[in-house]
Amino acid sequence: MRKNIVAGNWKMNKTLQEGIELVKELKDVLAADKPNCDVVVCTPFIHLASVATILEVSNIGVGAENCADKVSGAYTGEVSAAMVASTGAKYVILGHSERRAYYGETAEILKEKVNLALANDLTPIFCIGEVLAEREAEKQNEVVYAQLAESLFDLPAEEFSKLVLAYEPVWAIGTGKTATSQQAQDMHAYIRSVVAEKYGKEVADNTSILYGGSCNPSNAKELFGCPDVDGGLIGGAALKVADFKGVIDGFKA
Ligand code: PEP
Repeated sequence: MRKNIVAGNWKMNKTLQEGIELVKELKDVLAADKPNCDVVVCTPFIHLASVATILEVSNIGVGAENCADKVSGAYTGEVSAAMVASTGAKYVILGHSERRAYYGETAEILKEKVNLALANDLTPIFCIGEVLAEREAEKQNEVVYAQLAESLFDLPAEEFSKLVLAYEPVWAIGTGKTATSQQAQDMHAYIRSVVAEKYGKEVADNTSILYGGSCNPSNAKELFGCPDVDGGLIGGAALKVADFKGVIDGFKA
């Protein structure tokens, strides 16, 4: 059966020292009070090796926030999937709306990144989601369908099964405006139905679909209670241990 996952996305926050402090505290807190879900922290590239070492013996996974669309070579400033994997990280966020919007990441580029991540045994946390104008025009399903089809649907079922999906309505990211649990459930059920159509029911039932967008300790329980919401991708609330723990506890009775 699919896993429940809460993954933090630090974005461009935390110095190395601040990041180390946060994960040490998180490790202690989650050792004392075991989570009822998988927990992952996705950090800036330069933090990965240190964070992965600290979390090596822990119940917390580590991920990057991006990786290059090229294998290696003369791409100054880029970080390859192999480099990410060599730090001990096991996950990589791909297709985040901020990367699509500010760094021109197209469906084709993301396809390359997904292939390279999988080739290096990283689990992509692949983000999809509509902007406000698309939601207001009731085009969210077709937008999300296109994002899935254009970057992922060339994968064989065996490779697709290794992905984690994250539905992140762009209008809810960092805005304090969360999707209602009904909106989240409707979209997650739609995504699962699309995956079932393409890859079959078994693959769809085993695919973890996370919700992201202003998820916090006050709304996590209701969101995670939706049958097709398998956890969260968490930005702002991942930057403080108490808040992140509050979200993780959304899976507790
Ligand atoms: C995100 O960046 O993936 C995110 C969901 O951010 P926030 O929780 O701050 O809305």
